[in-house]
Amino acid sequence: VNHVFVQPHFDDVALGCGGTVASLAAAGEGVWLVTVFSDGPRGPTRGSPLARQLHAHWRTGRRAARVRAAEDDEAARYLGAVPLRLGLREAVYRGHRYRSWDQLYGTPHRRDQQLAERVASILGSFPVPAPQELYVPLALSGHVDHRIVREAGELLADRGARISYYEDFGEGPVRTAGMDPREGLVPMVVDTTAFVDRKVLAVRAYESQIGGLFGADDAASLGAPGQPASEMLRCGSERLWNRA
Ligand SMILES: [Zn+2]
Repeated sequence: VNHVFVQPHFDDVALGCGGTVASLAAAGEGVWLVTVFSDGPRGPTRGSPLARQLHAHWRTGRRAARVRAAEDDEAARYLGAVPLRLGLREAVYRGHRYRSWDQLYGTPHRRDQQLAERVASILGSFPVPAPQELYVPLALSGHVDHRIVREAGELLADRGARISYYEDFGEGPVRTAGMDPREGLVPMVVDTTAFVDRKVLAVRAYESQIGGLFGADDAASLGAPGQPASEMLRCGSERLWNRA
């Protein structure tokens, strides 16, 4: 089986199910790490105010997409996965559709309504040999890009694809508006004890991101025993979700 892990942004898979990825790769399975929204701002524009805030925070400036792709290459090596990118622009680079954090973690903008279908059609024509198992985020945080990737996976599932959901992490509060993203799904616990070191290395590879995810102090010593963020990464199990 070829396992295609689809992440909205660089880092989502390592954080959500990096141990599972590493364990499949170690077992000799084919594993792909596909980033959907992998491109930076178009042309000389400085991007939306949210994009500028993020670039300052990440200390990448407008080179963000290139820096993050290089980090992703390194993370994929630790996990044993082949990195691929769809080259779409993430929400903060899609013009000024998302002007606030609330909008970024809300429902997709009306001009993004066809985006899930577009993602599904690119994924559906992907040069990965069958049989394939597709992994998409639950969209627990509610980030629009995560919702769109989940929806793309579900469009493909309706057409016969095999999909599982992973628990995405760390992009803000869960804003589910009354609906639990796990509703109707059943959990499967994966023992990842033997792969926690690889997961930590992969997460650390996303150097521009970990300050924002864990706080600057914790990021510096990420992986050290006893530290809460490290313990979370090293917990030794991950959950995937499947349709009942
Ligand atoms: Zn993300």
